[in-house]
Amino acid sequence: METCPVACVLRMGLRRPAVKPPRLPGDTPVFVGRSNGEDMDALIKSLRPGKPADAKPSEVKSPDVAPETRPAELDPAEFLAAAVRADLPRPSRAEAEHAVHTLLSYIGENPGREGLLDTPRRVVEAFDELYQGYHQCPAEVLDRTFGETAGYDDFVLVRDIEFTSQCEHHMMPFYGRAHIAYTPVERVVGLSKLARLTDIFARRLQTQEHLTAQIAAAIDEVLKPRGVAVLIEAEHTCMSVRGVAKHGAMTFTSRFTGMFRDNPAEQQRFLSLVRGPNR
Ligand SMILES: [Zn+2]
Repeated sequence: METCPVACVLRMGLRRPAVKPPRLPGDTPVFVGRSNGEDMDALIKSLRPGKPADAKPSEVKSPDVAPETRPAELDPAEFLAAAVRADLPRPSRAEAEHAVHTLLSYIGENPGREGLLDTPRRVVEAFDELYQGYHQCPAEVLDRTFGETAGYDDFVLVRDIEFTSQCEHHMMPFYGRAHIAYTPVERVVGLSKLARLTDIFARRLQTQEHLTAQIAAAIDEVLKPRGVAVLIEAEHTCMSVRGVAKHGAMTFTSRFTGMFRDNPAEQQRFLSLVRGPNR
């Protein structure tokens, strides 16, 4: 695991139990035109600063309050760190290759035929690449900031950040573009870092909603800007090549925090720049 000073501080004492909390109902993609839907907003609200990050569910629960339902993937203490934990055993590479071998047999193939001999190795190598985000630390990417902003006080927008991620329901790719804006307070982060941040989260199993929320929450948590706006548009192959098999359907998800959430005019300005005439 890489060293990650920021996240390690955030993670101290924040280990989650080995068993993940149950997923929220309705935690599935909603297609086309969704903008900060209610259940997503409900998920995000628990990310707002102010609640102690290290509060255990037992501490925030009371008989009169609904039980803590924040899924681990939206807990900043979890997703801001490199996700692979040194203290949890992982299957060996040989075991992973064996699992691919099993899948080849399952679909009716002969894993022993020449063309497939190296396939388990290649698949595991591809997994190493597609899921490298589990070994990377999002907080570390945002750790280096610059103070020389010449009094810049508007938002910074990076548009059209291409990404490919894998849906956590089918382990099939979804891909598209992320548009990210934040309004810095005194310090700015290198522009490429927003693209790197997107890639780190995209190279984990995801839902588009969580990808959107995690990018926004990471920027919020580490840079403490006046606001963050994230819009993601993506096509899901689990919907285009299987299931209902509809090509070209785009899913939109958005997340606004701070001034973008509170000021509809800023939100509108972000959206018009993202969807401007020169697209
Ligand atoms: Zn899927």
